[in-house]
Amino acid sequence: MRIPFFSAFLTASVLIGALSVVAVTHPDTPLPRAWNPTVPLKVSAPYSALTLWKASVAERSLATCLAALDTPSVVPLEPFRESDSCGIEDRVRIDGVGSAELAAVETDCAIALRLALWERHDLQTLARVTVGTTVSQIRHFSSYACRGIRTPEGEGRRMSLHAMGRAIDISGFGFSDGRTLAVSDDWKGDPIAQAFLRGAWKSACRWFGGVLCPDYNALHEDHFHLQVPGRGFCR
Ligand SMILES: [Zn+2]
Repeated sequence: MRIPFFSAFLTASVLIGALSVVAVTHPDTPLPRAWNPTVPLKVSAPYSALTLWKASVAERSLATCLAALDTPSVVPLEPFRESDSCGIEDRVRIDGVGSAELAAVETDCAIALRLALWERHDLQTLARVTVGTTVSQIRHFSSYACRGIRTPEGEGRRMSLHAMGRAIDISGFGFSDGRTLAVSDDWKGDPIAQAFLRGAWKSACRWFGGVLCPDYNALHEDHFHLQVPGRGFCR
């Protein structure tokens, strides 16, 4: 009995394997592109269980990161090196993501990509549900800074991810109806402000490896610190 069972198992495995290959490679596959692991990430594509994995693949090179972003708001620049521990490798200049403007900033392409995914898949829906309008501006305190990690005791020896342009400090948001919310003033503001800002912070944790909000410590009372590397650090 064992041999026929094994043969059937083997045949079924080969069949499933072959069907899987056809499903992801055939030009007329019914598999949606967002769910196809062989189709590279596009920020504009619908969200799927593969989106985060595709983002980590896309940000391995500047070319694939730019292809995923696919927007004139992100311009590639030459790598920049200030010292052994400071510089931006996959350097871009970015002045917007989706339908939200940013004051132009130089950063690593991975930050641009994560900001774009956050805007596309979370911020706009959150703004419609909580504020009743859309996000037109993401305000920030810049990305690159050649410095150590700041602690309540002073600047530490370990370099901040800002020193590689792989972090950005978000200070607030502007909305299409002219309203604005500042992390400094509105983190403990009215219920609508709190719903949006706390939702923005929480949803950033899906896209960024490390996220710090005003509740973390006094050094973050006026911004969200978002960084790319790391996993699940959401405070
Ligand atoms: Zn920061």
